[in-house]
Amino acid sequence: MTTRLEVIVGPMFSGKTELLIAKLHRAQYARKRIRIVKPAHDTRTQGFIASRAVNPDGTTEVTDTLSAVMVRNQKDFARVVGACDFDVLAVDEAQFFPLDEPLRDTLGWFGRAIRTLLRERRATGLRIIVAGLDMDFAEQPFGPVPGLLAMADAVEKLTGVCMVCGSDSGYISQRLVADEQQLVVGDAGEYQVRCRRCYEPPGVCAAAEGAARAKG
Ligand SMILES: [Zn+2]
Repeated sequence: MTTRLEVIVGPMFSGKTELLIAKLHRAQYARKRIRIVKPAHDTRTQGFIASRAVNPDGTTEVTDTLSAVMVRNQKDFARVVGACDFDVLAVDEAQFFPLDEPLRDTLGWFGRAIRTLLRERRATGLRIIVAGLDMDFAEQPFGPVPGLLAMADAVEKLTGVCMVCGSDSGYISQRLVADEQQLVVGDAGEYQVRCRRCYEPPGVCAAAEGAARAKG
């Protein structure tokens, strides 16, 4: 019996939370005590994790929920996990936990806390499941998620349906609003799942259009 870290990544609307919730329901059937944590930065849902479906008109609908403890910072997280009264720890939207400024490592306080838990409770069979975006809108590794992927025992990388061409290889959340900040909490109105071919990286399109205009 040892600890285990499972990481679920993929773009928005790829079913990460749905998969996380399915795993947690199975753990509940097995009578495991579960604890769910979510960064307080996610202002869309407070106090629970929710899987959502996108309707044909672009609106989203909540399909399943489980209650979660909202965590603002390292102190909150330490308080939640300090109780040791759980067999499964689930964390959703982990990309919102920040890295250090100035940059110290690729884990940040959250990734380091997970590493410590895995070490300290290595003989207990603790299972940690982390879900989150692996990349931001500009194809930059997002927060502590890439560091956690490196440490994981198992990784599930999901794809979504590209909202431009309909292929099943949607791998990034295209930002539809102009904002250069990494953290813009949004929904179907602000983001769209795109495949590599349909993805428009920030800056590239404007440059390509400029070149085309200069030529023409
Ligand atoms: Zn596409």
